[in-house]
Amino acid sequence: MPFSYLTHLHCPKCEKVYRPDEIQQLCVCGSPLLVDYDLQELKKHWRPSAFSGRPSTLWRYHELLPVTAPENVVTLGEGMTPLLPMNRLGMDMGIGRLWMKDEGIIPTGSFKARGAAVGVSKAKELGVQELAMPTNGNAGAAWALYAARAGIRASIVMPVGAPLITRNECAVSGANLNLVKGLISDAGKIVGQAVKEHGLYDASTLKEPYRIEGKKTMGLEIAEQLEWNVPDVILYPTGGGVGLIGIYKALRELAELGWIKDKLPRLVAVQSAGCAPIVKAWEERKPASEFWTDSSTVAFGINVPKALGDFLVLEAVYQTEGCAIAIEDAELLEEQRKIARLEGAFVCPEGAAAFSATRKLRENGWIKESETVVVLNTGSGIKYPETVHVEVPVLEPHDVMRRS
Ligand SMILES: *Cc1c(COP(=O)(O)O)cnc(C)c1O
Ligand SMILES: [Zn+2]
Repeated sequence: MPFSYLTHLHCPKCEKVYRPDEIQQLCVCGSPLLVDYDLQELKKHWRPSAFSGRPSTLWRYHELLPVTAPENVVTLGEGMTPLLPMNRLGMDMGIGRLWMKDEGIIPTGSFKARGAAVGVSKAKELGVQELAMPTNGNAGAAWALYAARAGIRASIVMPVGAPLITRNECAVSGANLNLVKGLISDAGKIVGQAVKEHGLYDASTLKEPYRIEGKKTMGLEIAEQLEWNVPDVILYPTGGGVGLIGIYKALRELAELGWIKDKLPRLVAVQSAGCAPIVKAWEERKPASEFWTDSSTVAFGINVPKALGDFLVLEAVYQTEGCAIAIEDAELLEEQRKIARLEGAFVCPEGAAAFSATRKLRENGWIKESETVVVLNTGSGIKYPETVHVEVPVLEPHDVMRRS
């Protein structure tokens, strides 16, 4: 049996087909490319029992991943994160079965590790020696660290406002790190120029086809962890939307393999009110979004004013009868605290936004009490110390502590 059932790449816009054994970036028409596998052949060989002896990483699904030779796998042990019951929070919201897929404990501190692990592995397999990318922080951190492990040089450009910890993750890895006085879209222009001038591999979101495949494994894991059942609703904090596109792709592949039988979950794209282009497009029932000017939010991972794959995110939402919803910073910060108090989980602001959206959608009846709901917490709250503001008493050594 082959390690991977990879067959080719195709364009979801103009349907042009590309070879996967050469470097590919965008389609000639400008659209991101999607990866295809021989699912009919895989169907004959794949059995749920095959997974029992495999490592607890995303590489347990290697047949459905694009790396064709095991020696090219670059891993820090990412994947198979816990699917945790959130009973007290669920009770607080009026949801009987509320789960958190917790990406807070993955290498590099955010689920960007999934995209980086698979993207960098495939880049290594294709002979890439130097890559470049713009980032809001977490993706750059993950790609810089995985590139270091692969022996690939990385150039990263991020806004000066990006969190210090993600800067440090890039710097310590030896990446060529640059800051820009602007937004991720400005960083993107600088990277685009360098790519053109120096022939670098462009690892920008969706400009290489393999990051989606890494993020897709969240969908595979949720299905496996629910014993090949699917929840009614999955909520995802959406910036570039790669995770949502990936989860939708994973679920469709599993349905085609005959592994999941139920209706697909309703997929919810959660954004920040300070940057909500996908929500606006969904509200207007449009197939694509428009650039969101002057975007700003504490949830920097979802501060993406215009996503290259917006049409794919919207398709996933429309096709599954999902929805898109925006959350104010104040609301998500309050939810972040509530989650820590009720469940002991210090989630990232993006994850908190998805929980806050869950609460709102339960309140307005879009989510029913009896439904099974999975919320993605896409990173660790520890990466964002500046989002928590509390008054803490400072004692002299002889002082007496008050009880709360
Ligand atoms: C990047 C990021 C997101 C958004 O992911 P996309 O796939 O770009 O939509 C959400 N949460 C965190 C913590 C992130 O770093
Ligand atoms: Zn095309």
